[in-house]
Amino acid sequence: MVRPVRIELLTTGTELLLGTTQNTHGAWIGQRLLRMGLRISRQVTVPDGQAVGDAMGAGLAEGDALIVTGGLGPTSDDLTRESLAEVLGLEMIEDEAAMRTIEEFFASRQREMAPANRKQARAPVGADILANPNGTAPGLYLPPRLSGSFNCAVFLLPGPPRELYPMFEAEVVPRLRALSGIEDVPDFLELKFAGVGESDFHQGVDEQLEVIDGLEHGYCARPGEVDLRLMGSPCAVLEARRLVEKSFGQELVSDDGSVLEEVVVRKLMDQGKTLAIAESCTGGLIASRITDVPGSSEVFHYGFVTYANQAKRDLIGVIGEDISEHGAVSEPVVCQMAEGALQRGDADLAVAVTGIAGPAGGNKEKPVGTVFLGIAERGRETRALKQFHPWGRDVFKRQVSQSALNLVRLALGG
Ligand code: ATP
Repeated sequence: MVRPVRIELLTTGTELLLGTTQNTHGAWIGQRLLRMGLRISRQVTVPDGQAVGDAMGAGLAEGDALIVTGGLGPTSDDLTRESLAEVLGLEMIEDEAAMRTIEEFFASRQREMAPANRKQARAPVGADILANPNGTAPGLYLPPRLSGSFNCAVFLLPGPPRELYPMFEAEVVPRLRALSGIEDVPDFLELKFAGVGESDFHQGVDEQLEVIDGLEHGYCARPGEVDLRLMGSPCAVLEARRLVEKSFGQELVSDDGSVLEEVVVRKLMDQGKTLAIAESCTGGLIASRITDVPGSSEVFHYGFVTYANQAKRDLIGVIGEDISEHGAVSEPVVCQMAEGALQRGDADLAVAVTGIAGPAGGNKEKPVGTVFLGIAERGRETRALKQFHPWGRDVFKRQVSQSALNLVRLALGG
């Protein structure tokens, strides 16, 4: 049987509160726990120093498991181990095996160990030492019985993500599974959609998802995309997936966490095709997103940022009279941009965008937020569509890049 486990997360480090380091542990640990059917009940962030011990006391009192990150380093402000021993009234000793591992870590890198690193081998009596193959700071685990009347399991984990993540997988996940009695991890599926809004789901399928027995679902919406989280028994997740696909099959981008640009690059690779891009209002964002994907050089050779009318004419052959007659933000111009990029980029397909990001530049006929998107393919008629995203420059650019990439995805067969 699965026992409900209240998990408290305490992230420590002054830099997290100064804003110089973004606190990403909560998001990563939260998502990892979700895949096990568990969740964080409360997250607290405190600066280095006395606040760590105070926050530990509160976490121990409320939680069944307390996860603490950071402060295991060798410097004087790294006091997490000592704070825990003090709060629980436990004696600290040097763990011989941990000491040997730290010495070996330095020896293998041909570096001399500083005396300050000795303190990283100290642990409250009875604690398990958690191996850290990626750094000098071992983690610590105290089973609930060592926390006296608190009856709370405690994990002390290193701050750097590249040390924390593997340790979490290897040492924390199995212990939390045992604590909560989880045997069958619930199925978890994240479906990513583009070209559809959260409200479409509310109108379309939400009520039907609501009544599926044993299913938990939730949404996360960003400009031009929605993630749908499905969690529950394998049957419930499968039933939900079928239902959603019936209504939004075209808009489904991935079921394995891949983002739109990754899916587009993968499709281009699979089909042995190349893409060219002509951008005005997105200023290179679409090309930037494509080149975020490793291996994209195989499928993407030319991107044209043609912000000025002259650039549209000179670089991709848009006809000057058409710009004068219809405006730079128009269907004929976006079609010529796509066709010009296709020819001059010697590509199999090309996408183009031209729009008014604002705040200036709009008029009654074409208000701020208006954008035209075009797609040209060898052997097919060029298509264009008009959209309206009046949400400020940043959101506009992101949304237009999302629509453009989605057009390419659909052109490649959805
Ligand atoms: P070290 O041995 O490197 O001192 P540590 O266990 O003492 O490790 P901290 O000193 O608290 O950990 O943090 C080390 C680095 O880890 C920070 O500079 C920061 O880059 C990263 N880090 C710590 N906490 C977080 C967090 N919550 N989110 C993202 N990064 C973090």
